[in-house]
Amino acid sequence: MNIDTIKNGYVIDHITSGNAMKIYDLLELGTLNCQVAIITNAKSKKMKVKDIIKVGKLIELDMDKLAYIDPNITINVVKNDKIIDKKNLILPEKLVNVCKCNNPRCITSTEKELDQIFILTDKSTNTYRCMYCESKLK
Ligand SMILES: [Zn+2]
Repeated sequence: MNIDTIKNGYVIDHITSGNAMKIYDLLELGTLNCQVAIITNAKSKKMKVKDIIKVGKLIELDMDKLAYIDPNITINVVKNDKIIDKKNLILPEKLVNVCKCNNPRCITSTEKELDQIFILTDKSTNTYRCMYCESKLK
């Protein structure tokens, strides 16, 4: 897989196969006024198959959302046809307004103005819990 199609932008690589569309939706890549290419089930030495997303513009990427969906992603930053940086993701300690609490008795289901906040409580299992009711994020 080469990256010549992008002059400036990102190649989001090593996405677990099947996660590309989740990323596309959560990062609202469909609203961008630039080229976005999604490659699913690309061959990978490391992972057998993987998904790749190419974004043809150096937009502000929400690393927390990316890490939440798939912490094993690599982000290649492309400038003037060259990869100038490779970023690995780290799971954020806190997710703010990335996902909603599913507990119907949680205060956030009635107090709509509250931020949805989840705290990383267990790094070995990537477990997040709601800050208000401690419900586990699935
Ligand atoms: Zn909650």
